[in-house]
Amino acid sequence: MKSKSKGYFGNYGGMYVPETIIPALEELEIAFNKYKNNKEFNSELNLLLQTYAGRPTPLYFAKRLTEYFGRGKIYLKREDLCHTGAHKINNCIGQALLAKRLGKKRIIAETGAGQHGLATATVCALFDLKCDIYMGKIDIQRQELNVFKMKLLGANVIPVESGSQTLKDATSEAIRDWITNIKHTHYIIGSTVGPHPYPTIVSYFQSVIGKEVQKQVSKTPDYIVACVGGGSNSIGIFYPYVWGNHVRNSRDYSLRNRPLLIGIEAGGTSFKNGHHAATLSLGKPGVLHGSYSYLLQDKNGQIQEAHSISAGLDYPGVGPQHAFLKDKKIVTYKTISDKDALWAFKFLSKLEGIIPALESSHAIAYLKHLMPKTKKNETIIVCLSGRGDKDINTVRGNHKL
Ligand SMILES: *Cc1c(COP(=O)(O)O)cnc(C)c1O
Repeated sequence: MKSKSKGYFGNYGGMYVPETIIPALEELEIAFNKYKNNKEFNSELNLLLQTYAGRPTPLYFAKRLTEYFGRGKIYLKREDLCHTGAHKINNCIGQALLAKRLGKKRIIAETGAGQHGLATATVCALFDLKCDIYMGKIDIQRQELNVFKMKLLGANVIPVESGSQTLKDATSEAIRDWITNIKHTHYIIGSTVGPHPYPTIVSYFQSVIGKEVQKQVSKTPDYIVACVGGGSNSIGIFYPYVWGNHVRNSRDYSLRNRPLLIGIEAGGTSFKNGHHAATLSLGKPGVLHGSYSYLLQDKNGQIQEAHSISAGLDYPGVGPQHAFLKDKKIVTYKTISDKDALWAFKFLSKLEGIIPALESSHAIAYLKHLMPKTKKNETIIVCLSGRGDKDINTVRGNHKL
């Protein structure tokens, strides 16, 4: 194991990986730096984001939600309207275009709830790439419909039977596969996690969310709220306000005209070990899946099981950029329980006719705490990271309407 000096956000991030995958990470970093400013790459990316993924997504003024609280104006950034139902497709299109330019013919990915697997299988169909998705055996049973969709799209879903048979183990298996097949295979990581350069690449491809918001608002918003699993939809919407052009140099984080940025973690059923996924709020720094960041771990450094009602937040790690933003107090992190997320799921459905993903419901639920502090002339933007179709069975089992 080795970590080079590259890809750090303060102390966090790095490349804590076996020597054998360093060349592939470096190759990926070089390609990313070359193509992110390449005209032809960007016109292909932007055309697909527009005509395939459905961008730009609307910034919707939630009138009834606003009236309900009677304070600031609430807007929803509608990532739920993206193709495949969430923001994940933004990153998958970008990484698939990089993989194509690297001449890779095979894609692998990990998935928990199946949302990232679905987005990956989708771009592999689009670009005619062979696709293997690692998924915990328990998640395969829980997410039958997404497994069927991935197969329909031509992907091979590989069950992972080690450990807790969920996302963490699927990620470990995907990394193992990559080490063996690195020459022809690109690994599409689904969030701002993993070794450098992944957090940087994923946050860059998701920054389209925040860049659109900047164009859609007439003044800088006062608050931006987003849920945090690995951290990609939140980093995406925070991006221009954290590392945008108006942040003059990397030390200048004291931006005067910045919205209050709030990341919402999964508080689960309680703050006891194994009952939540509040990594930043309750974890400690350590190394998992190739980078140094906050983790849920016991006093011997063993990774703890995470729990959340929303599979997309059910991960014991979090991206290194968030660890840095937390320590620097640039972003505030709060938790929302399973119970309150369920409330918000039902609440937004009835009030606005929008069924949110359970992940996004955590951000909506936080409005209960935030709105009483806001003023009439203030604006609040919530990142609605995905739609709730995938969660209907979970909610049906948990809630009497
Ligand atoms: C995967 C997922 C998340 C969590 O991932 P981030 O990388 O933290 O954004 C949130 N919302 C939805 C709808 C998801 O599918």
